[in-house]
Amino acid sequence: MKQDNQFLMALDQGTTSSRAIIFNKKGQIVSSAQKDFEQIFPQSGWVEHDPGEIWTSQASVATEAITRAKISAHQIAGIGITNQRETTIIWDRNTGEPIFNAIVWQDRRTASFCNSLKDKGHADMVRDKTGLIIDAYFSGTKIKWILDHVDGARERARKGELCFGTVDSWLVWKMTAGAAHITDITNASRTMIFNIHERKWDEELLALLDIPKEILPAVKSSSEVYGTTSGDLLSAKIPIAGIAGDQQAALFGQLCTEPGMAKTTYGTGCFLVMNTGNKPVKSNNQLLTTIAWQLGDEVNYALEGSVFIGGAAIQWLRDGISVIKDARDSKKMAESLDDNGGVYFVPALTGLGAPYWDQDARGAFFGITRGTSRAHMVRAGLEAIAYQVHDVLKAMEKDAGEETKEMRVDGGATANDFLMQFQSDLNQCEIKRPAIIETTALGAAYLAGLAIGFWEDLDEIRALWKADESFKPEKDKKEMEKNLKYWHKAVDRSLNWLTD
Ligand code: ADP
Repeated sequence: MKQDNQFLMALDQGTTSSRAIIFNKKGQIVSSAQKDFEQIFPQSGWVEHDPGEIWTSQASVATEAITRAKISAHQIAGIGITNQRETTIIWDRNTGEPIFNAIVWQDRRTASFCNSLKDKGHADMVRDKTGLIIDAYFSGTKIKWILDHVDGARERARKGELCFGTVDSWLVWKMTAGAAHITDITNASRTMIFNIHERKWDEELLALLDIPKEILPAVKSSSEVYGTTSGDLLSAKIPIAGIAGDQQAALFGQLCTEPGMAKTTYGTGCFLVMNTGNKPVKSNNQLLTTIAWQLGDEVNYALEGSVFIGGAAIQWLRDGISVIKDARDSKKMAESLDDNGGVYFVPALTGLGAPYWDQDARGAFFGITRGTSRAHMVRAGLEAIAYQVHDVLKAMEKDAGEETKEMRVDGGATANDFLMQFQSDLNQCEIKRPAIIETTALGAAYLAGLAIGFWEDLDEIRALWKADESFKPEKDKKEMEKNLKYWHKAVDRSLNWLTD
């Protein structure tokens, strides 16, 4: 299995596209392929995908990536999967036909049901068992919705005629031609019906949502052989050997394998995940407690928090108010100033998430004077991304009782060196940007490679991970504290904007 002509394939099934990336033994990208698929919006707040298209797009990019790498399918030693989390699919166990479209994580159709669960006082119980805050985001209420709305579905589920799965389960089912109905524990931990302490589906939660247990997949670790491709795909029998939800895969791909290590993905929003080791940490700051991965019998837990408007602040400066032409110009403009000139931007364009949690907050610029220029607004936009990430990280540190020594980063906005340096100054910790920024796919490949001996152990993988750039604090802590004081004053003034 260790020959140099062997490769690993990561399938990265995202919200808007399916991707396949082939890695060599050095963890380098050999080839990749990507295909967008349809977003279905049946009504306001609803988002669906066609499970058939999820599968066909994923299968076609897998084939394309192999062709582009100029290798044969037999040279793929194993497949790792990472996927959009929480998205819910139910299909017929006999025919393999979905009984409804996939209900996507963003879908809000079960929001009022979730509110009724909260009103009935279930929040603490759900939080204690699952680490999650009751929300339409997670799979549980989506399963219930399909069982409630498709004729005869619950009865058929009870008889064992239906299968539920998140996207990982669906892909494994399709790839193995129905031989395996499984999910990995990271995906299970996002369903709101899985007990993260006992590591099993929870009877009380299943009863609360009226979900028959016959519909559930077997829960597996994140790194083991779940089955082999049936040969219909890629004309070879390839072991499927690693699975993790996208954020967890990124944490693993960044090799944040020790407690206290954290990664942040700077995309449209910013997604922070911190490894808390083998203990689940209950948050006092409304962060989520989740499973980072399971290797062998060992489970690693994580804290997770999101910033709604991250890179999107720059997008808005560009497309919304035309202050810049290109996101890349933001670095130069910010650096043209010695400091922020006292200008702060609170990008509460859709309310504020962790750790402020205020749906009624709205965006605002503060500290504007006659001397304020476009550059100040752009700099305030970039700084705002960093302030928000800082505040979530501090909340995590408080919950975990541990200070972060370094943060690893990925995502589109990490191309901005000003932002990265400012983040390092603010956090007073080192920021490492990896050479391979496809950390999500890399994480899935690492998990699969470990299971099949493509890589011996974590140490071998750690030796592969390379930082492209490292940013160390250059500014004085006191100076940054002054900035933070004004930032928090600005946040305070934007809170409750819509409240009477
Ligand atoms: P997503 O996966 O959420 O679509 P990406 O990881 O592709 O996001 O990152 C895109 C985001 O990063 C956009 O919101 C964009 O405004 C921002 N971005 C891209 N390049 C830069 C840059 N040089 N400086 C600041 N922000 C940037």
